[in-house]
Amino acid sequence: MTTRAYIALGSNQGDRQAYLASALDALRSLPGVTHVETSPTYETDPVGGPAGQGRFLNAVAAVTTDLSAEQLLQALHQIEANHGRDRSAEPQRSAPRTLDLDILLFGDVVIGYSGGPEHPGGSALPGGLTVPHPRMHQREFVLRPLCDIAPDLVHPVLKRTISELLAGLS
Ligand code: ADP
Ligand code: MG
Repeated sequence: MTTRAYIALGSNQGDRQAYLASALDALRSLPGVTHVETSPTYETDPVGGPAGQGRFLNAVAAVTTDLSAEQLLQALHQIEANHGRDRSAEPQRSAPRTLDLDILLFGDVVIGYSGGPEHPGGSALPGGLTVPHPRMHQREFVLRPLCDIAPDLVHPVLKRTISELLAGLS
């Protein structure tokens, strides 16, 4: 069985464009991943994290995969590590990073939402996978590139399309 999954890419350290391009190459050559489609890249202000960190380049990729969501996340963490990301050196979530790869959506799969749609991610185990990504619907830097490639995709918990979620921001 294959799934269409959506992955957010971000970088705000080093040669950001090169990190994103290389991460996309790595995605394309990942066993169990095919049909990689990419959004345009946007430059965005950091949200959260330490003051004074650099601006991000953000993009979204759609992939077809026969991996599980957990296997895909593990592969994404390996790609991050291969691109100079050292999680052990990061003091907090939203710290500056050479490469961040997040699973936004994994088909219609819902993981970690036992607290209900009004508490996305609220009941996920620490460090556990939450899908859809619990903050994706609040983040313009995610929704704008995602809307470029999948405007009519429906968020399986919020039951809104990506273009509706983007229009509902601000
Ligand atoms: P963030 O991307 O929110 O700035 P990190 O990249 O440091 O933070 O990720 C923190 C943790 O979130 C990771 O240990 C990862 O296992 C977990 N996680 C839970 N759900 C997801 C998801 N959908 N995509 C990526 N990571 C996730
Ligand atoms: Mg991440």
